[in-house]
Amino acid sequence: MASPLRVVACATLLLASVVACAVSSVRGPNTHRASTELPATQEIRYDAPSTAITPVVSSHPGLLRVRRVPASVEARVPRPVPAPPLLELPGLPQVILNIVLNYPDRHLRVTQHIRLVNATDDPWDEIVFSVPPARTPGVFMLDPIAGATMEGTMLTLTMTTPVLPGEPVSITLAYEINIPDVSPTDGHPEGNLGAGERVIQMGDWHPTLVPYLPGLGWQRWSYHAIGDPVIYPIADYDVRLYADPSIVIAAPGVATRQGLLRRYELQQARSFALLASPDYRLLEADAGGIPLRAYVLPGYAGAGQHAVDVASRAILQFSDLFGPYPTDGLVIAQNAYSGSMEYSGLISLSRQAFEVYRGSPQALLTRLTVHEVAHQWWYGAVGSDQVHEPWLDEALARYSELLYYERYAPDLVDWWWAAHFAAVDGAIDGSIYDFDTSYDYIRQVYGQGARFIHDVRRWLGDEQFFAFLRAYRDAGEGRLMGTDDFVTILQAHSERDPAPLIGRYFSAGGLPIE
Ligand SMILES: [Zn+2]
Repeated sequence: MASPLRVVACATLLLASVVACAVSSVRGPNTHRASTELPATQEIRYDAPSTAITPVVSSHPGLLRVRRVPASVEARVPRPVPAPPLLELPGLPQVILNIVLNYPDRHLRVTQHIRLVNATDDPWDEIVFSVPPARTPGVFMLDPIAGATMEGTMLTLTMTTPVLPGEPVSITLAYEINIPDVSPTDGHPEGNLGAGERVIQMGDWHPTLVPYLPGLGWQRWSYHAIGDPVIYPIADYDVRLYADPSIVIAAPGVATRQGLLRRYELQQARSFALLASPDYRLLEADAGGIPLRAYVLPGYAGAGQHAVDVASRAILQFSDLFGPYPTDGLVIAQNAYSGSMEYSGLISLSRQAFEVYRGSPQALLTRLTVHEVAHQWWYGAVGSDQVHEPWLDEALARYSELLYYERYAPDLVDWWWAAHFAAVDGAIDGSIYDFDTSYDYIRQVYGQGARFIHDVRRWLGDEQFFAFLRAYRDAGEGRLMGTDDFVTILQAHSERDPAPLIGRYFSAGGLPIE
């Protein structure tokens, strides 16, 4: 059932003055933040405020319960929120997501504001977003908006007047999403946005600014169902979610709740992902001051606790090796498909890994948890072009698995090499377009990539290797790093020429791959 909201979408170029496109509402500078709060409407009423996230425990855990959103929820959903005045220049793009999640209908109604400043030397005639759900007809439906064109998964907004260097711009997008089905055997990236029997997962689901390449323009790419076909610069997210109170939301960032409104603030994030289920149970832990919240389905408390324990150990270890954990807490969520995915402040873990978990030291759940936690550094803190240079984050995330086993289960190190690297070969620097199957992609980019990182470690020695990783993290904090950055920092950590080592693993090296 579609939401009865009437939402007007528009792109508003803000020069000196402020124009609120969806609803006229211009406020003074002191109400800057207030204007982004809930729209003032008599329809909005709240329950008693609560600042705690309370887990909802299903009384019928074995049943798929189909709920209708109560009429009172729909009556209270917000009207379109006016674009906030740009009276302060944000350092990072600011993304405000107002989401109405209709869980039983698998439907989203979203108003999204994006506020940014043209910090480049180029005038912007257009602004471009990546919209992965747009690849499937009938999933992503953008309200009419002047100057918008969709080509593949790239949404281009043509500016009526160029955004000059130093000028701010505020954009409002309004859209609906019909969440497609996802099956337990599906994987990523196709199932990243999907509704399973008991879980809705929302990864790579909202329009996201693409990188801007100075002098070249916005970076566009084609969707390809291999790897992670997205490239995300960081932004600050302020997310307000409305859903039936019985739906448990697994979402990252600083969470507060006020009646039907659940709010999440997440800084320096590459996107905002969440999962939802009426049946989630909450497990909580603390890893050296980093709060962990794990959401698992009934019957998987043991596996969930294992994931929490592994994640806690990995956070402690990687904080020590790579530098401080990069965001506000970590959310772990049992998902609805076979894949596992990293998102800023959240890891979506394979339901399959939970189902086969029997407490074995070699459990798939262990390796996946470590891998996705490592991505909080090698993806979250240090971004990279996951389309054209996916080895950069995947090789480091896979190699981080080995570091975990070395410290916490050294007797499994030989097993780890044997289990995952028997048939590894090929150059590591292919793009996602060079692969037709996830098997080949993972074998070559992850596997051979981890071998390369291991050879880098042997070439540098442990002390210099970990100094190199910390330097790479420091240099890449909040940025999108490239192979050139990696090699430059590597060169700075040795007096020897790394070219022969590079040549063994990179196609451009021109040397045969072992
Ligand atoms: Zn990965």
